[in-house]
Amino acid sequence: LTTTDLIEEHRICVCVRKRPLNKKELTVKDLDVITIPSKDVVMVHEPKQKVDLTRYLENQTFRFDYAFDDSTTNEMVYRFTARPLVETIFDRGMATCFAYGQTGSGKTHQTHSCTCFTQTARDVFLMLKKPNYKKLDLQVYATFFEIYSGKVFDLLNRKAKLRVLEDGKQQVQVVGLQEREVRCTEDVLKLIEMGNSCRTSGQTSANAHSSRSHAVFQIILRRKGKMHGNFSLIDLAGNERGADTSSADRQTRLEGADINKSLLALKECIRALGLNKPHTPFRASKLTQVLRDSFIGENSRTCMIATISPGMASCENTLNTLRYANRVKEL
Ligand code: ADP
Ligand code: MG
Repeated sequence: LTTTDLIEEHRICVCVRKRPLNKKELTVKDLDVITIPSKDVVMVHEPKQKVDLTRYLENQTFRFDYAFDDSTTNEMVYRFTARPLVETIFDRGMATCFAYGQTGSGKTHQTHSCTCFTQTARDVFLMLKKPNYKKLDLQVYATFFEIYSGKVFDLLNRKAKLRVLEDGKQQVQVVGLQEREVRCTEDVLKLIEMGNSCRTSGQTSANAHSSRSHAVFQIILRRKGKMHGNFSLIDLAGNERGADTSSADRQTRLEGADINKSLLALKECIRALGLNKPHTPFRASKLTQVLRDSFIGENSRTCMIATISPGMASCENTLNTLRYANRVKEL
């Protein structure tokens, strides 16, 4: 991929990123069933068995805006996904970037780990220095919150539980959400660290928790106090929910149902944005309600990074992820 491959004009960009086989998969000799034959094609080679027990591979092909293979760096993925959206928020727009996929497929690896969040911040601060934007005298703020089982928690304020209100004009407000002014990339890094430690505190396993909640990090530009643009970077809950429906634990079933609901609503809202539909079904979940403004408006742009595991053992989840991503794009 070179920068001339950049798709600039799309309101919705959907891409797929395959991670390498991990240690655990290598230990159990799991097979890599995913190939990326070209820069926008993903193939799944699903092992199947006929009734007479002869084995064969069922090949399925999916096409996206970009397909990143397991040798692609975070920096490269960033350059083709979130980076083109930085301009949007300077032009009074709303940008969102989602990482979607099963737990362990690389969502957090892509979004958090000092890459996408901080690279975005770095480029926002670079852009601020350009003469055109400098004269606007913009201030930069950040918020960081989590949506868990339909409730919003402020990660920059000791996980305070927040109410979401909607007024007569359908304006959605997360009451009391802390918005911190940031003046450099270093400030942003500190907030992310703070939010992350707050996110997982008291949890037995960081991954167990993050697989069941959506984390939303926002960079907000304000001019004379008024919102000028907003970039939301979202690490979604894991999309593998099959086991939850039969779980003996009521809480697990409810959480699972809520995650399913929000991921379905998200798909419909992004589709509505792509189709320029006047009606966006944002009320169907807390996630889409909170992100409402990102799905409407002339200058809203969205990018989805569907992360997939390469292993045969993950094949079913991978196919679900690819079908979902495909549907988001399909108009
Ligand atoms: P998720 O957030 O989707 O549950 P993680 O981002 O935590 O998954 O990834 C699971 C593990 O796989 C982590 O140890 C992470 O470092 C590793 N990993 C994920 N994607 C990649 C990649 N593209 N290259 C190398 N390692 C990866
Ligand atoms: Mg994660």
